[in-house]
Amino acid sequence: MGILEVKNVNKRFGGLQALGDVNLSVAENSVHAIIGPNGAGKSTLLNCLVGKLIPDTGSVMFDGQSVLGRTPYEINQMGISRVFQTPEIFGDLTVMENMMIPCFAKRDGAFKLNVIRSVEGQGDIRDRAEAMLVDMNMADKRHMHAASMSRGDKRRLEIGMCLAQQPRLLLLDEPTAGMARADTNNTIDLLKQIKASRDITIVIIEHDMHVVFSLAQRITVLAQGTPLVEDVPEKIKGHPKVREAYLGE
Ligand code: ADP
Ligand code: MG
Repeated sequence: MGILEVKNVNKRFGGLQALGDVNLSVAENSVHAIIGPNGAGKSTLLNCLVGKLIPDTGSVMFDGQSVLGRTPYEINQMGISRVFQTPEIFGDLTVMENMMIPCFAKRDGAFKLNVIRSVEGQGDIRDRAEAMLVDMNMADKRHMHAASMSRGDKRRLEIGMCLAQQPRLLLLDEPTAGMARADTNNTIDLLKQIKASRDITIVIIEHDMHVVFSLAQRITVLAQGTPLVEDVPEKIKGHPKVREAYLGE
């Protein structure tokens, strides 16, 4: 049994079958990549895992418990954290203030902006946020406005904000999308470092095959809402069905 078990998940948007009988088993402490052409249903699947969408049929179990019927907040509390396709940070806040938000959320279940800037926000929360920034190799950027950072650093901050919630499962939706090669390589190194330094399972949706083959132990190929193949990277490379799925892209 994997830490994440998706069984026969279907999701329709009107006449469009975005997901058709998706089965996925993700082993604990592994990095599992989901690849597939644009519109294959990758983001839809991720949305079904975090409560942003509710599958029409099927089941999604995390660590033996169903996530279906729970709110995104409750699913987050179960230990699933997600990095979105476009960075979701607070551009007007500093890097430090951004990092304090998930630390508050973890401790209090919520945060208030005024608290982050008040004396109450100076104690253990600040220490935790500081430690997390050190972990992310971005302590030197703590006073920068988040909006003024490079795309790669925004992504780094966002991943750190997810990790500050101490998830057991981290979901990444195209974390290197729109990045220059150097930032992409830095992101690969960061994810390797994260994986090596804690018990965490990572599910990564990724277009860049260099990223996928650098990180994943298993790869699921999704095409038109249905898994085509699932295997180790060596078997996925050059697989005729995978080439077929990407033809016409
Ligand atoms: P991917 O992430 O693999 O590129 P998506 O999961 O975003 O694909 O989309 C799968 C299909 O579902 C696409 O055809 C997309 O246009 C459609 N789709 C996604 N979200 C919605 C939505 N909220 N309403 C209607 N159609 C959607
Ligand atoms: Mg997508």
